[in-house]
Amino acid sequence: MDDVTGLGRRLGVMGGTFDPIHYGHLVTAEAAAEEFDLEQVIFVPAGQPPHKPPGAVSDAGHRYLMTVLATLANPRFAVSRVDIERPGPSYTVDTLRELRRQFGSGVELYFITGADAMLQILQWKDPESLFELCHFIAATRPGYGLSRLEKVLGPTALRHRDRILPLQVPALAISSTDIRRRVREGRSVRYLLPDAVAHYIAKSGLYAEKRVARA
Ligand code: NAP
Repeated sequence: MDDVTGLGRRLGVMGGTFDPIHYGHLVTAEAAAEEFDLEQVIFVPAGQPPHKPPGAVSDAGHRYLMTVLATLANPRFAVSRVDIERPGPSYTVDTLRELRRQFGSGVELYFITGADAMLQILQWKDPESLFELCHFIAATRPGYGLSRLEKVLGPTALRHRDRILPLQVPALAISSTDIRRRVREGRSVRYLLPDAVAHYIAKSGLYAEKRVARA
């Protein structure tokens, strides 16, 4: 018999590399929770992002700690180590199955990520199962328009069109790539991410050196 524990609960799953986490991510999670009436948003830092070469991202321990620091003050936010603790590439289909096992198969999961990341979704592992496991909230900058997403996704995703929910987030003009560049160049990152994360970056020396293998 199917385990329907968690029936009626709507949980957000905020998937990302978070290298580093910034206000764009936090505003996105808060907006998604409000817009789609999510009881909680669980941030899931990818252990080994499947589409990036090993060594191209910072150590998962650093990214996890920065995510904890950034989300600490919000009672609706939590952080999961599910991807960090699972060896091998962090395929989203495995993440969602594990979260269903933890929270009960009755929960409704809303996977929140950048619309640019979602453009590749047909190349993700087992896309058909992904659409059965969750709704997708595709966060975009204003003016991005989901028509681009629809064009790229083709018939598989169009069959699941009602499972893809657009969310416009002005703060997404902030980007992790820009923050890493600023740190490398010794420029200010103030007001782009929480102070605690900025202090962590400074103390640990993250992003001081240029990474060559980045995707
Ligand atoms: P990415 O390619 O680094 O990011 C693409 C764009 O989306 C960037 O502009 C990024 O901005 C933005 N973005 C990423 N996560 C976001 C979030 N949660 N909210 C708002 N914007 C976000 O993507 P990624 O972060 O490595 O991966 C995103 C998620 O997709 C992860 O959970 C990853 O595991 C999953 N994924 C799964 C597969 C698979 O199952 N095969 C393949 C690829 C990705 P920032 O750089 O500022 O974050």
